[in-house]
Amino acid sequence: MPRTLTPQVKDLYGEWLQQNGFQSRPSQIEMMTFIESIINQSRAKIGIVEAATGTGKTVAYAATAIPLAREQRKKVVVATATVTLQEQIVQQDLPSLRKATEIGFTYSLAKGRQRYVCPMRLERIVQPDISSELLQRLDEHAGSSKPPIKQFEALLDAFNNMQWDGDRDNTPIKLTEEQWSPIITDSQGCTGKSCTSFSRCPYFLSRQNIRTADIVVTNYDHLLRSLQADTDIYPPLCDVVLICDEAHHLSSKVMTAFSARVAVNDSRALIMRVHGSLDRLQRGIADHDVIAQLVSTFKETYIGLLAKLEELKEYLKDCFRNARETETEYRFPNGNPKNEIREAATHLSFFYGGLATTISNVSAELKKIVENQDPNKMPQGIVEYLNELGGVSNHLNEATLLFEAYSISENRSACARWVTRSVDDLHPEWVLHNVPIEIDKIVNPLIWDEVHAAICTSATLYAGDEFQHFIESTGLGEQAPITLRIDSPFDLAKAVSLHIPNMQTLLTSQDQARLAHTREVIGMLPNILKQHKSGLVLFAARKTMTEVYEQLPKPLQRHCLIQQGTGVPTLLKEHRTRIDRGDRSYLFGVASLREGIDLPGDYCRHVVIAKLPFDVPDDPIIESKRELLQEDGVGRNELFMLLQLPPVILKLKQACGRLIRNEADYGQITILDIRVVKRGYGKRIFDSLPDYGIVTQYPLSKRDRIGS
Ligand code: SF4
Repeated sequence: MPRTLTPQVKDLYGEWLQQNGFQSRPSQIEMMTFIESIINQSRAKIGIVEAATGTGKTVAYAATAIPLAREQRKKVVVATATVTLQEQIVQQDLPSLRKATEIGFTYSLAKGRQRYVCPMRLERIVQPDISSELLQRLDEHAGSSKPPIKQFEALLDAFNNMQWDGDRDNTPIKLTEEQWSPIITDSQGCTGKSCTSFSRCPYFLSRQNIRTADIVVTNYDHLLRSLQADTDIYPPLCDVVLICDEAHHLSSKVMTAFSARVAVNDSRALIMRVHGSLDRLQRGIADHDVIAQLVSTFKETYIGLLAKLEELKEYLKDCFRNARETETEYRFPNGNPKNEIREAATHLSFFYGGLATTISNVSAELKKIVENQDPNKMPQGIVEYLNELGGVSNHLNEATLLFEAYSISENRSACARWVTRSVDDLHPEWVLHNVPIEIDKIVNPLIWDEVHAAICTSATLYAGDEFQHFIESTGLGEQAPITLRIDSPFDLAKAVSLHIPNMQTLLTSQDQARLAHTREVIGMLPNILKQHKSGLVLFAARKTMTEVYEQLPKPLQRHCLIQQGTGVPTLLKEHRTRIDRGDRSYLFGVASLREGIDLPGDYCRHVVIAKLPFDVPDDPIIESKRELLQEDGVGRNELFMLLQLPPVILKLKQACGRLIRNEADYGQITILDIRVVKRGYGKRIFDSLPDYGIVTQYPLSKRDRIGS
């Protein structure tokens, strides 16, 4: 054990190794030493670590952060992007570490309110009078299926008998998203401490655990939303050691959490439905003056809003006046909508804001009724209605934010703004988008300036330009973070052979080149796949994947499992079953098979990359970022290197990372895209990949040679 680690970290790690019969790994210790320096703030308070598969990064950060945070009276919050990793941390890594420590520590999993059942609603819905009333109300909405009362009764039994903890991820009965909706709630629909089921509410019990736990495992969506809403679910960040795992997702998670979209016709329909239901509410609670006044305020605002939405639609149609029929997207240059749209947005932000306040006041009045009534005498449907208003409020708040953003005239917008239209003649729709692109303006005041210490880690952060792409995309530039790159502990030069077969087609942005490339892939795949009994074939686009699959010889097709309508877990299960019984099996997939799946040994001996996964060139977010950089004087070639190449490198590394999952693994990677050797940027791609034993079939000229 090295002297660099402090005694308490060394003790915990040493015990853990001993109990599990493991040897210490140099790469794990390197990561722990680095994290220790961050938590002790000896060099910087934020660190970035790219740790290859096999480093054991979860144990590295947990075994270091837990004792050091405790010593400094801080809490540890681990944020991840996927449920799979959260479960692995709370079900495997943390229990195994806890066994190894004498000091003991507590941990808790943080999830949003809608990940738990609302027992109060579950109880009410199984009462015959309530369920029939609710059935009637749901039937008013075309397409709504009837609530499965029998399953709800079974769930309530399981919950009452403590056979189920109310967590949706542990539910003994599978329900669809639509079936869950009447038995979950949000902050608007929840009556909190006044609720008769408060003391046994799984959501509030989980919040208590979060408050007292030494280490909280959460997901980015929940953490960001809680910080954005300024809730007290998490401890103040100045008392937190934050671990951002799967940190390559961080910037897209921030963008999603702070973006807004409004579908104009959907919004109109929702508001009209609310108008109708408020009428019914007013009739149901005839003697309530405050609600009567609020309903009349809603009606006054609603008429103006509907008229403005119609006006807005005409302006949006006009954006496509010179567009081809197939064009569905119009981006506002520099994030600045046209004047007439901006003016309409000014009115709409006012109207939506007014409706949001009114609905929030109606909710508050209804909550008072619920709180003051004997639960058994409560007017029917009020609790369910409160929940519905929660969904309406969320929409009104989102629309208010979007139209506020659209109403501002800026020279340099920090947001990408665009409108999409549907080409469906029967139900045309217009959707407005607002997505932040200057992330630093959000994350610095919200997270990085506040947090005690933070470690961002993932197996894929380094993209041929040191960590610059990650640092810039997560707004960390101002924080002067320090970085570490840990190579794979496996002997990849021996374990992996990388092939780039010769091909006729050099891909360009032309459709013809794409079609020719697809034809070549179809022709080559049978020979490429037959070399191994298992494989993962990754495509950049679903359309190409389907085209290739459909034109493969039928006997080969039978061995291929295509990611089309089938969920990833089902697909993986079938793949493993086929391999276990000695059959061939090749998985065909797109982005969601590129990361987070574990296919060790014979389950995956060959990863085939059908095409370098470049983003769509006219993606409005990339276009808007390009515009900002151009304004800053960045040249064309540099733009490509800054914006388009790093994401491709990261995706390629993720894809290649599916092959070697443990020390005994070996296999082949084939890239069916000769741009990696023919284009100038190929060297940058290769420099970012691990040192594979490169065996290329591509006849390289001296000029083309990799790394030259
Ligand atoms: S406290 Fe809120 S979420 Fe919990 S049971 Fe009551 S209404 Fe439902």
